[in-house]
Amino acid sequence: MDPREEISKFGRKVVASGLTYAHFGNISLLSDGKILITSTGSNLDEIGVDEVIEIDPQTPCPADALASCEAPVHRAIYERTNARAVIHTHSPYAVATSILEEGPFEPMDGEGARFLGTVPIIDGEMGSLDLAKKASYALIFNRAAIVRGHGVFAVGASLEEAYIVASMVEHSATIRRLVNAG
Ligand SMILES: [Zn+2]
Repeated sequence: MDPREEISKFGRKVVASGLTYAHFGNISLLSDGKILITSTGSNLDEIGVDEVIEIDPQTPCPADALASCEAPVHRAIYERTNARAVIHTHSPYAVATSILEEGPFEPMDGEGARFLGTVPIIDGEMGSLDLAKKASYALIFNRAAIVRGHGVFAVGASLEEAYIVASMVEHSATIRRLVNAG
């Protein structure tokens, strides 16, 4: 599948599955040595090929102005980890968990515990180099990290894998909140 179409497909999936809402969140993947990333302000469920921006994988470039404001975080993740795809969502239960708990988040359900292991909760301003550093270090040994009060960064060898990780984080956070409310 064309990588831009793949980004578009997973944009529809993350919105349809309630992991994020329309213009919140962003998606990227590595393709031919470049980062392809959703544009700033784009609705994830309506991404056309024009709304996928190509940016340099190492250094900030003019196209960054068109890319998602979280582009520095995506770039740092590719620099520091083995990830080949990144999905960032504003998943409600994961965000609630990061506000209510100090972290790291340890899934209580067996599947989440096995599949995700520990999910670090990190602090940092949206799109900042500080957040880029913290997120990329957190994702060297973990498949996902939650930015406190903000959202989830999920990584994988493919968008499919990153999507499963993002879904699992929200599922495990939902279980956690249901258990705590019980
Ligand atoms: Zn965000």
